[in-house]
Amino acid sequence: MNKQKALLIIKPDGVQRGLCGTILKRFEKVGLTIIGFKFASADPATVKAHYPENDVWFGKVGQRTLTNYAKKGLDAKKIFGTDNAIQIGKTVKQWLISYFQESPVLIVAVEGYETIEIVRKISGNTIPILAIPGTVRGDFSHDTIDLANEQNRPLRNIIHASDSVEDGEKEVNLWFTKEELFSYKRADEALMFPLN
Ligand code: ATP
Ligand code: MG
Repeated sequence: MNKQKALLIIKPDGVQRGLCGTILKRFEKVGLTIIGFKFASADPATVKAHYPENDVWFGKVGQRTLTNYAKKGLDAKKIFGTDNAIQIGKTVKQWLISYFQESPVLIVAVEGYETIEIVRKISGNTIPILAIPGTVRGDFSHDTIDLANEQNRPLRNIIHASDSVEDGEKEVNLWFTKEELFSYKRADEALMFPLN
């Protein structure tokens, strides 16, 4: 079985709230290996390349707003000037680029078995109020779609975690150079996986 790589970013709200150590500890504790680590200002062009630029992703992001607005009887046109999911997703992407300029971010690459599933599980639901306790987003944030959209900003949900094996590879290579990535074995790997 092959190992997978994932990119984690402690977003500006996580950094500003002094949560870097507390959050990173959860990923180390579960057994993932840190293979890249840096604190940096996110270049807007890198954030633009980081978040997808296709209608499937724009539609998924916009649909979050539409589903929530439908439940609450709110009108997306009032905030976004449209009720087209793809157009809403494009606006949210612009907000994300600005959000990442608020402060430095902590960028971490991790590796291990089933890494994508693990990092998504530890991070929790994208929408903080839906993220269950015990997850990073569930424990440290309670933002809502209504409030975020009304204030023309993305959900402040503390962390980014890659959500597919392909994106994990792509994102790690986007944010790190080859020289910034390390290959080594954790000392406790033999205890976690005795036959490795
Ligand atoms: P991330 O990629 O940051 O780990 P995610 O994979 O859980 O988050 P995506 O669908 O990729 O969720 O959305 C990227 C980010 O955009 C979210 O983490 C959130 O900050 C913001 N976002 C997504 N949908 C909305 C929305 N409808 N309104 C406001 N912000 C949103
Ligand atoms: Mg995502």
